[in-house]
Amino acid sequence: MINDIIIAIDGHSGCGKSTTSKLLAKNLNFKYLDSGAMYRAVTLFFINRGISHCDTKKIENELDNIIIDFKYVKDNQHIFLNNQDVENDIRSDEISNKVSLFSSNSSIRKFLVNKQKAFGVNKNIIVEGRDITTVVFPDAEIKVFMTAEIQVRAKRRFNEMKSKNPEITYSDVIKNLEDRDTQDSNRKDSPLVIADDAFILDTSDLEIKDQVDKIINFIENKFY
Ligand code: C5P
Repeated sequence: MINDIIIAIDGHSGCGKSTTSKLLAKNLNFKYLDSGAMYRAVTLFFINRGISHCDTKKIENELDNIIIDFKYVKDNQHIFLNNQDVENDIRSDEISNKVSLFSSNSSIRKFLVNKQKAFGVNKNIIVEGRDITTVVFPDAEIKVFMTAEIQVRAKRRFNEMKSKNPEITYSDVIKNLEDRDTQDSNRKDSPLVIADDAFILDTSDLEIKDQVDKIINFIENKFY
């Protein structure tokens, strides 16, 4: 039985990290942490207060006023910001377009990395994001880097979003994914990079079930 490990997953925007991680967590009976949701919630908090991502002084003064929790709502894990369910709000275009700016702020990163580390103390958790294999859990027993061709990622994301937002176009989606990849990979603090010991999983031609199976095979070959 796969037990007593941390599975850290990083990768490009829109390559299926969240869907894969949730299903993997269900199969292994592990907890699941969506670190991107935390950056999105913090972005929402500062946008609501009219505070810019560059205004580190104001950001630092407010960080203690941010409470982030995850709770289950009808079998789905939702993120709560100061006791309010913001699971839908954090997926808006506005947040998607601004989150990489706020996530490049080192004070915000420090604040969230500490919280993320605390989630991992009892292991048996899958954590996904951009710096999980390198900064948050550099000693994770399993590290995975997920990617996929940009057109495939954009098509999947567009199909997922068009029912919620009929105004959205395929070119909006591709631009957002490319911009976030560029900003996330080039920021000074904790850029998205492939950890030396990561298993690289290209999901361009894979279904979700195959992605989960490949990670489970990788874990079993490594340990069992
Ligand atoms: O995973 P998701 O696409 O929701 O992440 C939103 C954004 O949060 C990313 O584009 C990135 O800017 C930021 N992020 C990060 N570090 C993480 C997770 C997410 O900087 N560990």
